[in-house]
Amino acid sequence: MANRLYEPVNVEDMNLSYYCRGCHQQVRGVPITDAKYRNGSISENEAWIICKCPTHLCELSFVIYDKLNERIRRVYPFSTFDPASYHEAIPEKIREDLAEADRCYHADAYKGAVTMNRRAVQRLVLDKVKIPGIEKKKLWEQIDALFDAGFITKQLKDTAHEIRHFGNFGAHPSDDLLDNTSVEDAERVDRLTMDLIRIIYIVPYETDQLKKKRNGQ
Ligand SMILES: [Zn+2]
Repeated sequence: MANRLYEPVNVEDMNLSYYCRGCHQQVRGVPITDAKYRNGSISENEAWIICKCPTHLCELSFVIYDKLNERIRRVYPFSTFDPASYHEAIPEKIREDLAEADRCYHADAYKGAVTMNRRAVQRLVLDKVKIPGIEKKKLWEQIDALFDAGFITKQLKDTAHEIRHFGNFGAHPSDDLLDNTSVEDAERVDRLTMDLIRIIYIVPYETDQLKKKRNGQ
């Protein structure tokens, strides 16, 4: 149930999901303090709480919870988003773009985040499609070439084009209504980029690992 701004909220009822810098994944934080407010639990939208990661081995995090939108808005200390912490099947240059997209996202720089995701998609295409002169083409042509070469389904081609569109809104000033990239847009673009990366790099890698094990290698 949605919380209204001027109602107190128990920490137990809060959606304390955040990206843990220790185990590099989205976790459900366990609150170890009550919510603290600057002026009072009724008038303030922002609650300050110390959380621990449910994996127990990670450090504590200090989070700011947005009561109105029912989400954690800030996590301290910031994660460094080290490219080395992304899946080893992903080429290093792409990991660097993904890490930078995540850094932007966590600094509320949503245009920067979608632009970096678009960049990761472009690198992915250039890594896979080996047609002479492809690097000089526009990204929409490159994505179509990835589809034509059989790497992605029609659905994923649409996904890649959507990431491209939002990346363009992030990179170029536009009169379009979508000029303002919201946190929800950035989140969705980030998730879809990871879906694409997963299909192209991680799924074949994991499949190969199983195949090797079955063959006793
Ligand atoms: Zn953790």
